[in-house]
Amino acid sequence: MLCPFCNSDTTQVVDTDHDSRGGVRRRRKCVKCNQRFSTHERAVRTTPYVAKRDGRTEPFDREKLLRGIRVACAKRPVSESQIQRMLDGIEAQLQMRGKPEVPGRMIGDIVIASLKELDHIAYIRYAIVYLGFEDLHAVRKEIDDLLGGESAIAAR
Ligand SMILES: [Zn+2]
Repeated sequence: MLCPFCNSDTTQVVDTDHDSRGGVRRRRKCVKCNQRFSTHERAVRTTPYVAKRDGRTEPFDREKLLRGIRVACAKRPVSESQIQRMLDGIEAQLQMRGKPEVPGRMIGDIVIASLKELDHIAYIRYAIVYLGFEDLHAVRKEIDDLLGGESAIAAR
């Protein structure tokens, strides 16, 4: 910990207690200039690493996910803030698992489920790329399912 007054790295902890938000507060003293200051420690949730199919892991890349979702949502009535909120939700779901890594497949599934609620066209676009629908029949079946769901709601 560097002294905020003289940048020296020789500081001492003189007192430790808890702050009101469940963190830890340390009172410190700089050995060089004798100034006192406090530091706060707080737990932060971290987003797990992504386990890829080939066995490698990589850091969660929000920007990459964002790009794919933006492409799927292009020219759709979906705002940037809706997309950001969706991403926040996805990241929170991953963090809540409390695991050091999650399968990439799982992230894809969460994106798909989120897009399905947000916009059906964006969902189909993303699904075609991500699920790799083999042919038009698979796409058509998915669209039929979506339309079936809609007419079931309309019929109520
Ligand atoms: Zn100092």
